[in-house]
Amino acid sequence: MIVALNAGHCMKTAGKQAPDGYKEYNFNMPVVNKIAAILKRHGVNVVICNPSDPNKEYSLTKIASIANAAKACLFVSVHFNAMGNTWSNVRGLETFYYKTGLDLAKCIHMKLILGQPMPNRGIKKASYTILVKTDMPAALVECGFMDNKIGRLLMESEEYRDECAEEIAQGILKYLGIPYKPLIVPSEGEWADILRKVSPWANIWIDFVKAHPEVNLKGLIVKLYKGGA
Ligand SMILES: [Zn+2]
Repeated sequence: MIVALNAGHCMKTAGKQAPDGYKEYNFNMPVVNKIAAILKRHGVNVVICNPSDPNKEYSLTKIASIANAAKACLFVSVHFNAMGNTWSNVRGLETFYYKTGLDLAKCIHMKLILGQPMPNRGIKKASYTILVKTDMPAALVECGFMDNKIGRLLMESEEYRDECAEEIAQGILKYLGIPYKPLIVPSEGEWADILRKVSPWANIWIDFVKAHPEVNLKGLIVKLYKGGA
């Protein structure tokens, strides 16, 4: 089972930025990586339909062809919306589908709106190229508005990125009929034992951290667990 994911745009895409110049891609790509980590934890294979160079962008046709060639069972593209290039008051979450993606869009959108105190702008049908050219059920998720000052803050929030990734991944798993297993993050007392099991260098690390309390090793391990470190 292969799921195709796509982070909208790239660091160089003209216009895809907040009014202060913060790029949409800064949000989209980490969220896609986090979704991928959650899906992989559930035994789902993932193909990410983006070039590894953040300054390069594939055409929409190319993105769809990667998903189609991988015979992915579904496709999800992650975005952050904008009304224009000046600050506005428009807020909220919306999910788009076109051909066969309505059920997938519903599964994702229902999870997203449960987690957010954000206006629900609904599930909408739109003939976006990426939704037209992908052969499998496809959804495009807009996680907020970057020309809204609250949305702009959320784009940079690690907590918000985690939340969107969790909810989108849960929606995908629900669609696939795979039960969601919450991540058990090791407690303060457990992480050193876990480290000892996975690394022959664990004791050196643990001694180093004891001597340098300013190094947040636990934070790093948690980040690695969640993906996107
Ligand atoms: Zn976008």
